[in-house]
Amino acid sequence: MGTVPTWTVPIFQNFAMHLLKHPREMQRLAKSWRQSGKSVGFIPTMGSLHAGHLSLVEASKNGNDLTVVSIFVNPAQFESAEDFQNYPKNLANDLEILQGKNVEAVFAPEAVEMFPMDYETTVSLEKLSGYLCGPFRPGHFRGVAAVVLKLFHLVLPARAYFGEKDYQQLRIIQKMVQDLSLDVEIVDCPTIREKDGLAMSSRNSLLSKDERKEAVVLYQALGKGKEAILRGEKDAAGIKKIMRETVVRFSSIALDYAEVSHPVTLEPLRTINSDALLAAAGRIGKVRLIDNVRVRSRQA
Ligand code: AMP
Repeated sequence: MGTVPTWTVPIFQNFAMHLLKHPREMQRLAKSWRQSGKSVGFIPTMGSLHAGHLSLVEASKNGNDLTVVSIFVNPAQFESAEDFQNYPKNLANDLEILQGKNVEAVFAPEAVEMFPMDYETTVSLEKLSGYLCGPFRPGHFRGVAAVVLKLFHLVLPARAYFGEKDYQQLRIIQKMVQDLSLDVEIVDCPTIREKDGLAMSSRNSLLSKDERKEAVVLYQALGKGKEAILRGEKDAAGIKKIMRETVVRFSSIALDYAEVSHPVTLEPLRTINSDALLAAAGRIGKVRLIDNVRVRSRQA
């Protein structure tokens, strides 16, 4: 990695993991790495790290010279101040985990550094933001796209890693990169699940014991939908009914949607003739759960 530049803070003696707080510091380090011909893999996160995040780190370590993780709970992608306040935060623990994974740098800016009072630029993907979670989280994907675009300019990654768990977010980033000809490869990584199937999420720590038990029903409902397609069901309305009924019967999850969508455009499908995305979201207690599964045409 060469000498540690003076503007970074090596936080551990045995391994100089850089902790950067200021956008321009991050960019300066990224430029020096780019000049020295090192490839950077980048994982944007909101922290409270779990095995899902670490699978992305692992993929980046395997595919690049250097790995940068950002930890930034982005206020621009929360619709309510309460949800933002309640989001689990644990920077000290996250840094220890990332040091253990030999990540070269962590970028953890304050909100005001990323979005000062006079910030006004938006990045909006009209169609892709209109489906699935879009109507339930107005402004959310604008906040996501803006922060990811800004982070790309600060970290200058050759590759950036995103989880399929947040499938709509992944599609929005892929499309933004395509539309704006950004020079970064987006690598999609499979959803990492708990033993019972629940998709890992930082928000799961906010579930009570009973809510945690019921939360897995969202994934089970998607599984029922997938099974029906594999049995030959082609009518999306029938699949949605199966998924909704599973959630209502076996849990107290308040469903926002259970949808059958085109995996690229995210448009709702009426008939399933090729690949499909089954996606669902709902609320239990204070926690919003989302999950999805893919059904490939060679399976159907
Ligand atoms: P977050 O911290 O929730 O914003 O997530 C940061 C990145 O980790 C995003 O690309 C997520 O899609 C990804 N991620 C979160 N949970 C999982 C999971 N269970 N499996 C795989 N990737 C995940």
